[in-house]
Amino acid sequence: MLHPPHQSLQVAAVPQQRVPVRNRDQDAPWHTEAVCRRDEAGLFFAPSKEPTAARLSREEAAKRVCARCPVLVECREHALLQPEPYGVWGGLTAAERRVVLARRRRREVELQKSAPAPTVAAAG
Ligand code: SF4
Repeated sequence: MLHPPHQSLQVAAVPQQRVPVRNRDQDAPWHTEAVCRRDEAGLFFAPSKEPTAARLSREEAAKRVCARCPVLVECREHALLQPEPYGVWGGLTAAERRVVLARRRRREVELQKSAPAPTVAAAG
């Protein structure tokens, strides 16, 4: 499992410089460009027993960081594909990701239902 970029900030001895999007190295992992590697490390995951108002405020602040992140799409897809059960990833909270995943599953089922039935090839 990939370590969340915002968690790696907490253990990184030397924060990495952000690479401008136009000069991105396509072979480098997306999280090397994560804004949260340099930003507020405690913003993305809830501390234990966090009151609801504090959680909502923290999540909105984390989303504002995500909104200026060049790898938001990659981060969001990673969190949806894993799936990551906790924290703000790609501008979505865990609850919001569950909604997106449920919608995707419903869409897949609908597409499967509407797909034409496979035809049986005529035997030689
Ligand atoms: S989108 Fe948000 S959580 Fe993801 S790497 Fe960027 S700042 Fe971090």
